[in-house]
Amino acid sequence: MKAELVMVGSELLLGETIDTNATFLAGELAALGIDVHFKTTVGDNWFRLMHVLSQALVRADVVITGGGLGPTMDDLTREAAAGVFGRDLALDEQAMADLERFFEQRGRAMTRNNRKQAYLPEDAKAIPNDWGTAPGFILEDNGRCLISLPGVPREMRGMFSATVAPYLAKRRGEGSVILSRSLHFSGIGESAMEDAVKDILLTQTNPTVAPYASLGTVKLRITAKAASRQLCENLIEPMEEQLIARLKPHFFGRDGISLEEALGKELRQQNATVALAESCTGGLIGHRLTNVSGSSDYFLAGFVTYSNEAKEAILNVPQALLLEHGAVSEPVAKAMAEGARLVGSTTWGLAVTGIAGPNGGSDAKPVGTVHLAAAGPDGTYHERHLFRGAREQIKDRTATAALDLLRRCLSH
Ligand code: AMP
Ligand code: MG
Repeated sequence: MKAELVMVGSELLLGETIDTNATFLAGELAALGIDVHFKTTVGDNWFRLMHVLSQALVRADVVITGGGLGPTMDDLTREAAAGVFGRDLALDEQAMADLERFFEQRGRAMTRNNRKQAYLPEDAKAIPNDWGTAPGFILEDNGRCLISLPGVPREMRGMFSATVAPYLAKRRGEGSVILSRSLHFSGIGESAMEDAVKDILLTQTNPTVAPYASLGTVKLRITAKAASRQLCENLIEPMEEQLIARLKPHFFGRDGISLEEALGKELRQQNATVALAESCTGGLIGHRLTNVSGSSDYFLAGFVTYSNEAKEAILNVPQALLLEHGAVSEPVAKAMAEGARLVGSTTWGLAVTGIAGPNGGSDAKPVGTVHLAAAGPDGTYHERHLFRGAREQIKDRTATAALDLLRRCLSH
């Protein structure tokens, strides 16, 4: 089955909005085993939208649009969709009832232009929107299929997952199931990972294996096609085992788990607690740990000690260490971790100190130099890293590396 994406919105053509919807949809369709041959971005213009939609409907089995379903005058996707299928817009009673309920629940008055959103092309199936006001719709005619979703990413994603993905899976046909599993790794770069599994990547057919990298973590996605879910599992399992065995120390979990979730699970399992001493990350590690619900079970305290004085006063880092080695150094990172552990009365103390840049670097300690330390019951571990990138990327990578250091300490 071939799908085509049409992203609607002049803001996308003006470089004001990054097209994250197409990225999401393309990834989801790939996971469903549906090929995407074309993706078009078109402005809020009726003629150009009609033109693109007619073209797309000729070359693809399914066309998915994003955007242009709002209540304002520049939202034209409903009209254009009705136009290419030669239909009128008609009131969808259920969609209107949903809209009225949405406004009532929020105690807001519904304006006239909002009502416009409940008018869908005749005989279209409405896609409920539990995240906002604009319903989407599915239009079918003579084997042609158009699916329209709103532009707001949260609504678009929710509606795709709840309604469109199951619809497409069914339309794609029985007899062929596609199943994916993601394996997540940290503390290893994309190219080192590729090197370690290159022979597998080169010879893969079913299941396929594809690597993906983000800041500081990498993922391998295994995808199998077979007649049933069980047969897919049978194909995936040996591949999964083989990949994990090759990259064992770096593996932290499956299917969308984050590093902080994996670390949290491990801390909870070991009945261990952690306190943080953050310098260059300014609280980012604490932020990431507390993004996980239930983190109060193991995360007890975080100290953002940016100045030397704070490192001394709060964490009891000896002044002599700071003077002799500088704040960005192994001895200071270790003293910070030990200080956090003592002050927080935790099993572990985790510390970072580094130069996030763009200023403050030197030949001996260039921008991106980061010292990490984890103090635990058996002593204190230290690592030095040199990260590249802009200030925020260095902070992100530092936070990821610190979480990874503690994860590895725990799995020893
Ligand atoms: P619309 O459904 O056209 O009213 O879009 C509502 C909002 O969704 C726009 O103001 C954008 O901020 C956002 N948006 C629309 N299309 C996209 C897209 N392809 N990627 C990310 N955001 C989008
Ligand atoms: Mg728009």
